[in-house]
Amino acid sequence: MPILADQPHDRARQADKIVKNPANYKICQGCDSIVLIKTHTCPNCASYRFEEGEEAVVRQARILGNRERRSVIPGDLS
Ligand SMILES: [Zn+2]
Repeated sequence: MPILADQPHDRARQADKIVKNPANYKICQGCDSIVLIKTHTCPNCASYRFEEGEEAVVRQARILGNRERRSVIPGDLS
């Protein structure tokens, strides 16, 4: 299960967690998902190429978190 895929409502919270602990994660070069550092094959797209590096992970987590925060879902309108 990709950390930041298919969990839209948790996305901002997950992103926060990743930003605080970037060494535990890496970025899939196939689909830009953030996955656990121990992952060998991306569970989302089956890629085996990853970008590691705390700076890159933090940047990507912020992008993914912000993308969700900007979107309006029906629950936000009530
Ligand atoms: Zn992937």
